[in-house]
Amino acid sequence: MEEQTKFEPLPAEKVEFVADQPDLPVKRGWIGIAIIRLLSLAIVGGALYYSFEGLGAVFILFILIVPVEKLFPRHKGQRVRRPLYKLDISYALASPFLNGAGLIAAVFVGVFTFAWIPGLMIRPLVAMIPSIAMPVIGFLLFDMIGYWTHRFYHEIPFCWKFHAIHHSTEHLDWASGFRAHPFDGTLVAPAFFFLIAAGFSTELTGLFAIIQIVLGLFLHANVRFRLSWLHPFVGTPEMHHWHHSSETDAIWTNYGAIIPHWDMIFGTYYMPKDKRPTKYGVDEYIEPNMIDQLRYPLVGMGNPLFILRHPFKAIGVGFRFYRDILKQMKWVILRPRGMKPPN
Ligand SMILES: [Zn+2]
Ligand SMILES: [Zn+2]
Repeated sequence: MEEQTKFEPLPAEKVEFVADQPDLPVKRGWIGIAIIRLLSLAIVGGALYYSFEGLGAVFILFILIVPVEKLFPRHKGQRVRRPLYKLDISYALASPFLNGAGLIAAVFVGVFTFAWIPGLMIRPLVAMIPSIAMPVIGFLLFDMIGYWTHRFYHEIPFCWKFHAIHHSTEHLDWASGFRAHPFDGTLVAPAFFFLIAAGFSTELTGLFAIIQIVLGLFLHANVRFRLSWLHPFVGTPEMHHWHHSSETDAIWTNYGAIIPHWDMIFGTYYMPKDKRPTKYGVDEYIEPNMIDQLRYPLVGMGNPLFILRHPFKAIGVGFRFYRDILKQMKWVILRPRGMKPPN
């Protein structure tokens, strides 16, 4: 008999690997603090030695966004040198290194989420699409899968641990978009693998991924414009600021990055006319430094050498993990509209 989906409590409780995190800052002596600083410096310095790509991104965003933020601020009095702005810039500078690790993780996620299987299945249908319609249909598919992946990353606790780093910032501006765990970039992997398997060109799919990532950086800007006339058509800073809001009504809303329609269709659209987002951040405590943040989602996963030492046990653990994640995906898809995470 088909097992009934229960909406309370969250089936996520069954999932392994989601360790309880300490709610309070780790107490470190000066040696501990020095080690954390040196490691951060080594990552940023090494990445800069390897490539100036991250520095270029910081420069371009600073030039384009900061003057507009100064002239038309959303949160007046929020300075460019607001708390933890250096942390966000460090993420950008370290990106040539972090993106390398992220790419490996993205291939892993792309392969093992099996989004390419339905992609292969619709390949004959895609072959019938006239080439002029390919970009539009490809875009809609890419954006819809992106919506669902983003929603899973919020609503499945194991995935949330990775995405929480991006949401840990309490100030949104030109630099906030840089803060993300390198494995958070895996968000675009299922859509990417699906489209390639379905027969869309790598160039077109890569372009969608780039648009999503670049637009994503701009959506965090501390700019006043509501752009209400754009709300029915495209994601705006207002929409993404609500996505980052820690107000109860705004939690689990506005997952769309490029267009807002998936949120409207699947019941997660939140754009109140009478108020504006004021408070951002997450409930859990996340250490305000890169090293602890890179470790944050990995705590509780155990020693990776376990796979080598006990390969058969590891396969069993892997299957159980997979089954639990699938159950949670089903829960996320079927949960009532407007539902909020239980406390
Ligand atoms: Zn998010
Ligand atoms: Zn964001």
